[in-house]
Parts: sequence; C-alpha cells; structure tokens
Amino acid sequence: MSTVHIRQAAYDYQVLRPIVFEMLGSAEGPSIGAGTRVLIKPNFLAPAAPEKALTTHPLIVKATTEFALEKGARVQISDSPAMGSFSTLWKKGGYEQILKDLDVTVRPFEKTMAVDVGEPFGKIDIAKDAMEADVVINLAKLKTHTQMMLTLGVKNLFGCIVGLKKPEWHMRTGVDRHMFGRLIVSIYEAIGPAYTIMDGILAMQGQGPGKSGSPRELGLLMGGKNAHAVDHVVCLQVGMDPDNLETQRNARELGVYDGSVHINGDLNILDDFQFPELGSITMGPDFLGRFMRKFVIQQPVADNKACKLCGECWKICPAQAISYTDRGISFNTDTCIRCYCCLEVCPHAAIHAKKPLAGKVVAWLTKKR
Ligand code: SF4
Ligand code: SF4
Repeated sequence: MSTVHIRQAAYDYQVLRPIVFEMLGSAEGPSIGAGTRVLIKPNFLAPAAPEKALTTHPLIVKATTEFALEKGARVQISDSPAMGSFSTLWKKGGYEQILKDLDVTVRPFEKTMAVDVGEPFGKIDIAKDAMEADVVINLAKLKTHTQMMLTLGVKNLFGCIVGLKKPEWHMRTGVDRHMFGRLIVSIYEAIGPAYTIMDGILAMQGQGPGKSGSPRELGLLMGGKNAHAVDHVVCLQVGMDPDNLETQRNARELGVYDGSVHINGDLNILDDFQFPELGSITMGPDFLGRFMRKFVIQQPVADNKACKLCGECWKICPAQAISYTDRGISFNTDTCIRCYCCLEVCPHAAIHAKKPLAGKVVAWLTKKR
C-alpha cells in the first residue's frame, strides 16, 4: 500500500518549505546522500508566469532543490518544454530569480537513449539525464487535459520524451486514448521516479493544459512515492472516478498499481471542479468515420481574431492537419488525430476544443436519463 500525503499549502515559502521537507523526509521519501545525482523534473510546459498555472511553481522547485542539496546531492533541473525555449521559460516562470543562489545544474533535456519500455512500443528514446540520474524527483502540476482529462504525476514523465518526438508519439498512438495512456505509463515505469509532488495549490481546470485552461485555487500539495497512488488521490479530490483516467486503467491492467492507497491528511472532495469535455474518438467505416470526424466528434477550433499567426500550432501538429492564410488557420478534420497538441502550445489561447452541434445532439440523445 502506498501512502499519499495531502496538505493545505500556499505559495509562501515559510509554509511551503516545511511541507516539502516533511514529504521528502518521510518513510517513503527518496534515499539521498552525499554525491547522489538527483534529477528534478518539473512540469515546464511552456514559458508562462506562475499565476497562469501552466508550470510547477518555482517555490516548490526551490524547496525540493534545497532538500536534496542539504543531503549533499548533486542536483540537476531539466525538462523539455512543448513550446518555447527552456531559457525563456526559466526566466519568465520566475525560476531564475527564485533559484539564483542555489548550486544546481539547469539545462533542457537534449541527449536521449533508447530504452525498451515493453510491448507494444519496444525501444523508445528517453532523455538520457532522466535515465542516468540516481534519483528522479517528479514535480507535477494538477491540470486538466483536453485529450486525457487530467495531466498529473504519471503524465509529467512524458516530458522526458525530447522535442519533436512528443508529437511523433502522439501520431503513432493515434486517436487511441487508451494506447496513449499505456505509452505514458510505460515511460513512467521505465524512468521510475523516487517521489512525486503534485502542485495543486493553483491548479488548472476547464480546457487545459495550456492557456485555454483556467487557473483554480485549491491550496493543495500532495506527495507520494508512487505517482499512480498520487494521481489516484487527485482524482478522488477533484471528484472524478480514477478508472476514468487512462493512466490509472493502464497501470492496473499492466499490474503495476493495485489501487490500494493510504491517505495521510484530509481528503475534501470537490463537487464543482470543471473538467474538459472529451469527445468520442472511435471511428466506424470510412464514410461514417469521415462524417463523425467532421460533424460529430469534438475537434479543435480556432478563434482567428485571437490568432497571431505565430506558427506554433502548425509546427507541432503531428498530423500536418493545420493550414493557414493571412486570415487565420483552419483544421483538416479528416487527418486531425485530436491529440490537442495545438491547443496545448498556442500562446494566445486561440484554439479551443469544441463538439459540433450534431455531436451535442447525439450526446443529448444518448445520455442516460
Ligand atoms: S492558433 Fe495560436 S499557435 Fe496557432 S498560429 Fe494562431 S496564435 Fe499561433
Ligand atoms: S490539428 Fe491539433 S488536435 Fe489535430 S492533430 Fe494537429 S495538433 Fe493534434
């Protein structure tokens, strides 16, 4: 059975530091000593100020770093942002200012190594720094995710897939959300972080995980050795059945998590957390599939008034489903695999996920009454 700590917290270092130290110093905390190579993996989705709730708060990164340094560890902080440069993110996210006095190596993931993560994926390229560290500490952010419902501790390790390999894997797992969940679990298991802390102090709800989501103050910090258990408790906390999270279902199917968890702290279940609407992504025969893709299932739509034609979306789209003119962008609903990478990276919140009218009617007609 895995223990998950839940604590009320705030972005106040006097409050935060003792909580992070308590979690990391607990019986299930990581084993760190003099010379241990510790890799801290925050959620560095894109350059954004902390109040946008896109990234793990810098004070949590600072407290984790101080904990490891006090044990004599050599500490590195790394990630591979989906969008924007690592150095811009480091400055804009407040990390440069808050961690400036700490003796730590800071760099983006660049080199990779082929790691066999098991069937059906086989060998995939994962950040070498994450694979070679003695201890990986996973600092996740509690956010909604238009494709996967929530992006939590297990999914945070998908950031160890470097650069354009991320959209490539979205493409290879296609519209199969369950298969994408399996890939994420396989990557998590291959890296095997020693501890996960979940930043749910300022979480994100609605159309996350990018700028189309809305920050939501929950005041929660959660931590545990097993990220499956942490994610399980987050689901309970926000009022969602854990079995509806693909990473939880896959973890159980793969036999890497049995669902037994001990909660240390107060679980106050929310009844008003706003989830993104996930459309069905199963396709039938060709003609029906095409009709469904165009008129029924949820799809990305652009607000061309907000679009600045920066190109981030069409650069990342793994299906080359986005075209543009000087009047804005448009989507090819036939080839779009609904991975929502475009929504995730748009710096101007100009892309939303929307179910067409026919899809809403179908959903209404098929709703259990
Ligand atoms: S939709 Fe967003 S990411 Fe795409 S070109 Fe416009 S502003 Fe850039
Ligand atoms: S258009 Fe957006 S949702 Fe569709 S495949 Fe491209 S990045 Fe993914």
